[in-house]
Amino acid sequence: MSAEPSELAELARFAEVAVPVPVRHPFTYSVPKALAAQLAPGSRVAVPFGPRKLAGFVVALTDAPPAQGRARPIAGLLEREPVLTSELLAFLHAASEYYMHPLGEVLRAAAPAVPSEAMKTLRAQGFLDAGESLPGPRIATRRVLVVRSVPDTAEAGAVIPKLGKSQRVLLDLVRERGEVTLDELRRHLKSPREAVKKLAARNLLTTSEREVAADRFFADEVAPVAAPAPNAQQRAAIDALVARLDGLARGEDRAQGGGFLLHGVTGSGKTEVYLRLIAEARARGRGSLMLVPEIALTPQLVSRFRSRFGDGLAVLHSELSDRERNDAWKSLRAGRVDVAIGARSALFAPVQDLGVIVVDEEHDGSFKQEEGFRYQARDMALLRAQRAGAVCVLGSATPSLESSRLCERGKLVKLELKARATQQALPPVEIVDLARHKSGPGGQRLITGPLFRALEQCIAQREQAILFLNRRGFAPSVRCLQCAKALECRSCSVALTLHKGASVLRCHYCDFMTPHTGVCIECGSPELIELGLGTEQLEQTLAKLLPSARIGRLDRDTASGAGVEAVLQRLRDGDLDILVGTQMVTKGHDVPNVTLVGVVLADQSLVFPDFRAAERTFQLITQVSGRAGRGERPGKVLLQTFDPDHYAIRTATRHDYEGFYKREIEERKVERGWPPHLRLAAVRVDAVNDAAAEACATGLAEVARAHPASRSAQVIVSGPSAAPLARLRGRYRWHFMLRGAELRSLRAVAAVVRDRIDAGVAPARASLDIDPVSML
Ligand code: ADP
Ligand code: ZN
Ligand code: ZN
Repeated sequence: MSAEPSELAELARFAEVAVPVPVRHPFTYSVPKALAAQLAPGSRVAVPFGPRKLAGFVVALTDAPPAQGRARPIAGLLEREPVLTSELLAFLHAASEYYMHPLGEVLRAAAPAVPSEAMKTLRAQGFLDAGESLPGPRIATRRVLVVRSVPDTAEAGAVIPKLGKSQRVLLDLVRERGEVTLDELRRHLKSPREAVKKLAARNLLTTSEREVAADRFFADEVAPVAAPAPNAQQRAAIDALVARLDGLARGEDRAQGGGFLLHGVTGSGKTEVYLRLIAEARARGRGSLMLVPEIALTPQLVSRFRSRFGDGLAVLHSELSDRERNDAWKSLRAGRVDVAIGARSALFAPVQDLGVIVVDEEHDGSFKQEEGFRYQARDMALLRAQRAGAVCVLGSATPSLESSRLCERGKLVKLELKARATQQALPPVEIVDLARHKSGPGGQRLITGPLFRALEQCIAQREQAILFLNRRGFAPSVRCLQCAKALECRSCSVALTLHKGASVLRCHYCDFMTPHTGVCIECGSPELIELGLGTEQLEQTLAKLLPSARIGRLDRDTASGAGVEAVLQRLRDGDLDILVGTQMVTKGHDVPNVTLVGVVLADQSLVFPDFRAAERTFQLITQVSGRAGRGERPGKVLLQTFDPDHYAIRTATRHDYEGFYKREIEERKVERGWPPHLRLAAVRVDAVNDAAAEACATGLAEVARAHPASRSAQVIVSGPSAAPLARLRGRYRWHFMLRGAELRSLRAVAAVVRDRIDAGVAPARASLDIDPVSML
């Protein structure tokens, strides 16, 4: 029955548990005898916390009772295996320190949701009440009908009388596969439901509901594709990476680390380099992790990975159900799957024996988490790789200034792919000066004569075009002539955008929506004017001007999840002549017949109140230009702008990254300086009441200014000021910045601000953002 006394003595009596609350230390719980042998650091457990019940993580086991008070017992173990491997636990600990964010919240952000079976057990044990769950992420799951063959009728050749043709086909399919979903059957038969019912009634098959692998990334079969032989520039990059992978494994090169920047122009074959490196790691029994900006936009990339790695690949994306995510974690943890691909949060995937981390399009803003545990996945990828002795490749055609600077300082090794891998060179970029070109044929200012003619010609040659406009909706703003201002969101200080299709006015920040009745929502005046151009109107105007053109639109309104893929598929299949869209069209799409790219208004991102505005403009133009002329026919780019002499625009038209970098790095030195010359931390405050937010921000800034490092001007405190986006979801926002050349003193000042926040700032809320990206 009970364990030997000697064994018992070795089992820890207490566990330090990190719980997801804004408190910076773990809590001590006693370990029930029944659990003692099963707990390990990284185990997820259910614990009582005051009157609440929470899921926390064991971070250490100990025999030391708590310093004060009595330890409450752990209520239950949620998964048999520790969710977090020791490598992950140690890495997440380091990340929590770096971002000064409570460990319990960091761990919760990293791990998949608590499995529902665990919740059931806790209810059976009486820890949770009926219908009660531990708080945490919940993702809706999809239930579908599954059809299974019945074993004893499934002998080969068994003849079953009186079957209709569709029943015959269906039964064969189900027998062949063992089980099939109804959705899958729909691809082979017109209306399979009826046939399924009849066959089930004859006990020839069974049906049941199940939470399925609703995973559209695995929905279609992919044919294995022969990998192209690497060209010389790819070969050099692959060799350097593999040499470092082996060097690190032998315990050499530790001082230099495994960080690389792969700077390759659009279409230069960076992906091929990643695939080869990952395959080499795999051949050595090492796992790999691939981070991409937005997985919904990269179905092609996923297919390429699947065709190389087949079942050895886990695709982690936001549409996975809890169970699927948990299953993916289990497979990775057990080493059954050794390659993971996903967006930002895939950084935490429990890949075993990690050998490679790739961050594709490393300049992309989506790698920064902007809520809760605010982390930069690119930076953390370098940290995780460093700790694991892995190679980390940051890849981009337009590297962030931070990464290029790290190369200059010798912290990253630069690898370059200077030419496209295919026969076409980078497309020429032609500027259309909007100050000189007045309205084009449709009377619409932004569809100029040159753009219109280029589109006509493109379609006449049966080629395809992509038009990029970074504004969705119909008109960016509706102005009331009575009130003399734009109609604004009631809870955010931003203008509402008119969406004509649905006839609503919409806030792009909080998603507030109100019907557009044609009168002012403030004063009721019917004297309204619609200003500016959004993707929806661009699409409509083009449809009028080019009535025979097949036009598609890709933005957050038309496409989410599988919708994105459908639109991109139509483009690839040649079912679209023109694709109009927001930033979503700039990402890595590789469609050979796209020969024309139009940037409808390049200045849009330049006028942003953000020190990275020029950098972002350069990146967007370069990325979208890279979509043109990837096949046999040469491409071209038309770039419309009011500011043709701006250095970001001039260098982008010449595909001149070096030129842009040299100028931008100088620009960032002026005045007090910006990253990458200085390090930055933002303190963000919000409150329902403007005065309360201001008072809190002012108080925190005073705390920062009182620190010796600020008094000696090692750290500069700028602000506080109202945030450019002064009101969001009904809360007023204030912020201030800490800047310093030296990380240590900057962190020392941030730490006193953190301590002040921890002591309580109600009714306001405040948080630290280390290495901030958003300046809004
Ligand atoms: P990037 O990731 O740099 O944009 P990709 O890896 O997507 O570039 O490659 C661009 C195109 O060139 C793809 O169609 C790819 O199949 C092709 N390609 C890549 N490497 C080679 C090669 N060595 N030989 C021939 N074609 C290649
Ligand atoms: Zn009005
Ligand atoms: Zn709003």
